Amino acid sequence: MPQTSTDLTHIPALVARQKQWIAQGHSRDVDVRRQQIRRLLSAVEAAEGDLLEAMQQDLAKPATEAWLTDIGTVLEEGEHVLKNLRQWMRPRKAATPWMHSPSSAYQLPEPYGVVAVIGPWNYPVSMLLVPTIGALAAGNAVIIKPSEFVPYTNAVLGRLITDTFPVEEVAWLPGAIPETTALLSEPLDYIFFTGSPAVGRIVMQAAARHLTPVTLELGGKSPVILDEHVDLEVATRRIVWGKCLNAGQTCVAPDYLLVHRKVKAEALAWMQRHLRDFFGPDPQQSPDFGRIIHDRHVARLAGLIEGQIVTGGQVDVADRYVAPTLIEVDNPETHPAMQEEIFGPILPIIPYDRLEEAIRFINARPKPLALYVFTTRSRVRQAVIERTSSGSVCVNDLVVQVGLSDLPFGGVGESGMGSYHGQRSFDTFSHLKSVMRRNFLADAPGRFAPYRVPLALLKPLIRWLG
Ligand code: NAD
Repeated sequence: MPQTSTDLTHIPALVARQKQWIAQGHSRDVDVRRQQIRRLLSAVEAAEGDLLEAMQQDLAKPATEAWLTDIGTVLEEGEHVLKNLRQWMRPRKAATPWMHSPSSAYQLPEPYGVVAVIGPWNYPVSMLLVPTIGALAAGNAVIIKPSEFVPYTNAVLGRLITDTFPVEEVAWLPGAIPETTALLSEPLDYIFFTGSPAVGRIVMQAAARHLTPVTLELGGKSPVILDEHVDLEVATRRIVWGKCLNAGQTCVAPDYLLVHRKVKAEALAWMQRHLRDFFGPDPQQSPDFGRIIHDRHVARLAGLIEGQIVTGGQVDVADRYVAPTLIEVDNPETHPAMQEEIFGPILPIIPYDRLEEAIRFINARPKPLALYVFTTRSRVRQAVIERTSSGSVCVNDLVVQVGLSDLPFGGVGESGMGSYHGQRSFDTFSHLKSVMRRNFLADAPGRFAPYRVPLALLKPLIRWLG
């Protein structure tokens, strides 16, 4: 029987053991870090079949989706790190003024120490392993705390981690709120949290006690603007795909659609057609459509289905099924689906007449994790990019911006703080220590007491030398 909880009394000793390992300095060596990442990638490749099967059991994730979003992203991130790590670890030179010469200065990336990676259930492999790769690349020890709602995936991933790493390097800490609370009470050196804004606040409060730095990867309502000048067939196909990926349980899923009134009817027709093409007449029978994580979320989603339902609306609690659902929303201020992050396959559709209205609508709400605009007009594209604020923007597609190793991913405001992926992960998990070096040769005139050089002379001299 796989372990699903942790003896809370073991947590302080685990943190102490990892701190000791870091203090011994092994992870300062680039080869140690590269070898850890290689070991992790090989283990993931070897367990690929078991992981896909487990995600099928937890979330009915189609294998293609699960591989692309949970396994492929981990392998790609790891390869990218292996290729670039030596260069990222190099000291970063800083200029020194003539006044201090001879001298040199640089920033040296050093590990924080013990990093806690606390994850959600929706992408139960990549949301844990992508940050773990970044933390290892930067020379840290890692404690991984998975979500308690994906027992099958946790059984495979927990075994993979414990078989691949000694606990002082990477530890698996299964459990729910008590385990997370106990972990957060420890003097951790960095906390990387992915989850809801509500729990993000709890994490940040706990971090304040030890002044532990945090990255918060949170969620929220990511809008889509669908302009009238657009390839409607392509745009709507991508939107429906993004909404139904993992049954809508994606942090950067399109949450709601703002559609230009002129193309609303045609867009709705296209979306219904794409849904039929993707999942047939009854999506519940399709092997390519996932399930909701647990009954509580099915009940919550059922409560959001209200008003003018264009298609879908069916809910089967026993099967944890919520149909892909399109709803026309007349009054977004009161419609239940517009009051919280949906995190399910329900798409509220709100018409607008002028771009200005759509921008105002978005800006009146918390800053989203992602924002999408579909248009062929550069004026519209630029207005949306420049006059809104969000973690990321993707033009004429959605979700795929998250997959770029070279493009940092993160939120802003209510959708989070900090970012990661590729070099940004390395920087996130490194303390960039400033170092300045001098020798014993010269000192600037007037530096030491008694201060006899008149200020009127010193100021222009410093400016000139600086
Ligand atoms: P959650 O916040 O409920 O749980 C996340 C983690 O926190 C889990 O490991 C859980 O055990 C722990 N936790 C829950 N309650 C806690 C508490 N009171 N005290 C301490 N720890 C607690 O989130 P979830 O339901 O697992 O995931 C869904 C949310 O995550 C959505 O809001 C989604 O948008 C967001 N998300 C964000 C990203 C991103 O990259 N920005 C990615 C995936 C999911």
